[in-house]
Amino acid sequence: MSADRPRIALLATGGTIAGAAASRTATGYQAGVIGPQALLAAVPELADVADVQAEQLFAIDSKNMSDALMLQLARRASELLAESGVAGLVITHGTDTLEESAYLLHLLLKSAKPVVFTGAMRPGNALSTDGPANLYQAACVAASPAAAGLGVLVVMNGAIWSARDVGKQDAAALHAFGSPHGPLGRLAGSSPRFYRAPSRAHTLHSQFSLQRLHALPPVGIVSAWAGMSAAPYEALAASGARGIVHAGFGAATVPDHLLPTLRSLRARGLPIVRASRTGAGPLPCTSDLQEGGLLADDQNPLQARLLLALGLAHGADTAGLQELFMRY
Ligand code: ASP
Repeated sequence: MSADRPRIALLATGGTIAGAAASRTATGYQAGVIGPQALLAAVPELADVADVQAEQLFAIDSKNMSDALMLQLARRASELLAESGVAGLVITHGTDTLEESAYLLHLLLKSAKPVVFTGAMRPGNALSTDGPANLYQAACVAASPAAAGLGVLVVMNGAIWSARDVGKQDAAALHAFGSPHGPLGRLAGSSPRFYRAPSRAHTLHSQFSLQRLHALPPVGIVSAWAGMSAAPYEALAASGARGIVHAGFGAATVPDHLLPTLRSLRARGLPIVRASRTGAGPLPCTSDLQEGGLLADDQNPLQARLLLALGLAHGADTAGLQELFMRY
């Protein structure tokens, strides 16, 4: 054990990494029941990496995450990062909505210190659980000066992803996370190796901040399907949505019969951002069918929802909203 270990804060929010099943082979389990001290005790090797101070913020299955809880998480993370003795932060989180929390913090936190989300696909007492290794490697990244200034990172199964474009792409595999742009780096055991850096704005260079941000305006996502109706749009608008992300086919296309609905929603001041339900690929700005809908560039619908909500919360107009999708 080294005497000059960095101090790392661990913020636990629940998820499968803190989950327990009735037996080592059971498929069902309860998420978020193992406390952070027990998570740490399962990985004594962490003591070689960092002096870890653990805190439980939530104990939830991340299917129950909400915008309000994500903002609470961002606030607590921001307080911990402001402590001079804290060199980095690890956040344990359920994998179901991990990419959403991670992206919101990527846009909101004002710190260059490493912030690393991790989780697990198998509960803590499963055969070959992945949680301890993920927690260990997340701490290795959070303790590494090489991870500073890269924005919020996600460490799962030996890979280091940018929160900007990572997504859960598999419901069961240990390599559940991926990005159209690949990982930023990998871990060779305990050693993080970075091969690229994000080029879009985040954290210290983000125009968004937690100050005066009391809530996110409601923004919903409508996923396109062949033969879809306009009902989900009307329902979202009637529920008070301030913006809608259209997760369209391919290059975010909109069926012809929906265009009058989308036109009328826009005329009522509701921005529509078109993303691709494929989750990848830069969208061509010269598409013929959109009549003024905004384009999410390559952002997947989940991340586009959060960026649109932050843009609306900060008072961006239509042109300003479009610029966000080219900057972040
Ligand atoms: N349902 C769990 C959660 O998101 C899944 C996981 O953590 O892998 O909390």
